[in-house]
Amino acid sequence: MSKDQPKTMGQQFGRRSWAEPWKIKMVEPIRIKTPEQRLAAIEEAGYNTFLLRSEDVYIDLLTDSGTSAMSDRQWSGMLAGDEAYAGSRNFYRLEQAVRRYYGYRFVVPTHQGRGAEHLISQALIREGVTIPGNMYFTTTRLHQELAGGTFVDVIIDEAHDPQSQHPFKGNVDLQKLEQVILEVGPEQIPYISLAGTVNMAGGQPVSMANVKGLRELCDRYSIKIYLDATRMVENCFFIQEREEGYRGRTIESLLLEFCSYTDGAWMSAKKDSLVNIGGWLAINDEEVFEIARNLVVVYEGLHTYGGLAGRGMEALAIGIEESVADDHVRTRVDQVRYLGNLLASWDIPIVQPVGGHAVFVDAKSFFPHIPQSQFPAQTLAAELYLDSGVRSMERGVASAGRDPETGEHRYPKLELTRLTIPRRVYTQAHMDVVAESVKAVFEGRDSVRGLRMVYEPRYLRFFQARFERI
Ligand SMILES: *Cc1c(COP(=O)(O)O)cnc(C)c1O
Repeated sequence: MSKDQPKTMGQQFGRRSWAEPWKIKMVEPIRIKTPEQRLAAIEEAGYNTFLLRSEDVYIDLLTDSGTSAMSDRQWSGMLAGDEAYAGSRNFYRLEQAVRRYYGYRFVVPTHQGRGAEHLISQALIREGVTIPGNMYFTTTRLHQELAGGTFVDVIIDEAHDPQSQHPFKGNVDLQKLEQVILEVGPEQIPYISLAGTVNMAGGQPVSMANVKGLRELCDRYSIKIYLDATRMVENCFFIQEREEGYRGRTIESLLLEFCSYTDGAWMSAKKDSLVNIGGWLAINDEEVFEIARNLVVVYEGLHTYGGLAGRGMEALAIGIEESVADDHVRTRVDQVRYLGNLLASWDIPIVQPVGGHAVFVDAKSFFPHIPQSQFPAQTLAAELYLDSGVRSMERGVASAGRDPETGEHRYPKLELTRLTIPRRVYTQAHMDVVAESVKAVFEGRDSVRGLRMVYEPRYLRFFQARFERI
């Protein structure tokens, strides 16, 4: 690129409308089923959108995980797969990409994020230890618990308030954290589990100042920080947009700086990195790396493929590079905000500020007449599907599961229905259709009844639980 060519649309057009920095080369037809077919499908699925068949869905906002569109460059990388069992060329490309863009020393590939969570949990957690973190994530906490640890939430209070306009609702409350350290003792804390952005809080970011402060505090007590880097690129966009002193910086440089305050990271590459499957664990400490590199051969595959094909590692290496482009991140987050702003303009209660990957509807305010024990967020996801074939996901009491000690439901403050936007897949017109459907359900909300759970699996129940209308 020549020096006088503007790098981003922002530099060229100032504050005018944005547009995606790509055009569509291949399409996949989608169809909407009839209202009768949708009713039959959601009943068959036990009112759980995870149990719907994809072909019964019109616009699929279940998740941004593995649902993004790859670029022509990534697809060409798929033909450059070196499918050797050991030492694939594509592994070294992936290792190089993680080192260059995230800055860590050692890389272990895994089949997806939870594979990496499993390795780091088994490597560092002993029976009885405490892992403080900025709000739980379902698979992260489960792996920490299965390894014998207890997760303690030390996120700032604002994160639990859907109306709080705090610009960095993902921040760690350093006072809360220090209290936990003093209570259990620093030697009982193998690491801090830091996530950027915080999925369960609504895709909310952590500020650079907060991670710096966290590093200082942890250095005083010799505690490690491990980062859930799944949506760190989106987190860096919010730093660039909102944080004093970082406005002129590129996403690329912000990502490197942020990661430099941590000791390692696990990654679900199915999110930021624009691939359909993949993940990694990255570590600076050589001893911890040796443990993880040994464990990976037990659970995932050899340490140079970790459950991935060579072609998948190539597409991932390219995806990492594409994911940090400023224009890409901006249009991605702005599309999410377009949907959020539309809903907010109709007074539909959503988590504010709108986060990086999804719009989270506040189901408690949406259905004030449905008690949390009757799964208001699950109910909203089912109603939305019935109205328009749009698929969303529950992030409330079903996702929170049961307390392992007491066996009771965990009732989170946030009871949310998530409309999650895949990257580079849907257009603004799809967002309009989704918004109008949420509005239609909102207008008929008074006659909607809640759900009761009739089947509950033991682990991560939200994936497979079944419900009935009350
Ligand atoms: C998706 C996700 C994970 C788990 O990754 P998978 O690839 O689904 O196994 C971990 N942390 C966060 C924040 C996630 O969103």
